[in-house]
Amino acid sequence: MSEFLNWLLEELGKISEDEIVDPNQPLKSGDRVVGTLESLQVKKIYTQRGRLMREATELNLNLQEMAPDVNADGGDHDPATCKRCKLRRELDSLSEKAIFLDKLFWISVRSELSEENQIEGERMEADGVGIRSGWQIVFFKLKESSLL
Ligand SMILES: [Zn+2]
Repeated sequence: MSEFLNWLLEELGKISEDEIVDPNQPLKSGDRVVGTLESLQVKKIYTQRGRLMREATELNLNLQEMAPDVNADGGDHDPATCKRCKLRRELDSLSEKAIFLDKLFWISVRSELSEENQIEGERMEADGVGIRSGWQIVFFKLKESSLL
């Protein structure tokens, strides 16, 4: 199996049930609840996605605080020894994984919806699928109709 898939399955396997993080987003006007996410696996993907995003944010801050070129002491810049380049490589890899997990999460949520749900979403011309406190799955509209 691939390095990445191994890593992903291992990380998800390490998350225990009480480590799962609730989306903690109250329902907003324009939301229509169409179901509740039950899958532990998908909840773990959400949790891991959040961890990676926080890590990436932290790394990014560290990177910004770092001097533009650590090897500016007269020597040639070498990405092999430059601490900043090393950190940037880590950040690139982390960001890529976070983006992938985000996609994976939303594909997984959408896959939990029935065709009736999908049709409901189309009828209300929803702008997208969202997740709210208690793992409620919603279709949301960005601009609430003034008539409702
Ligand atoms: Zn560098």
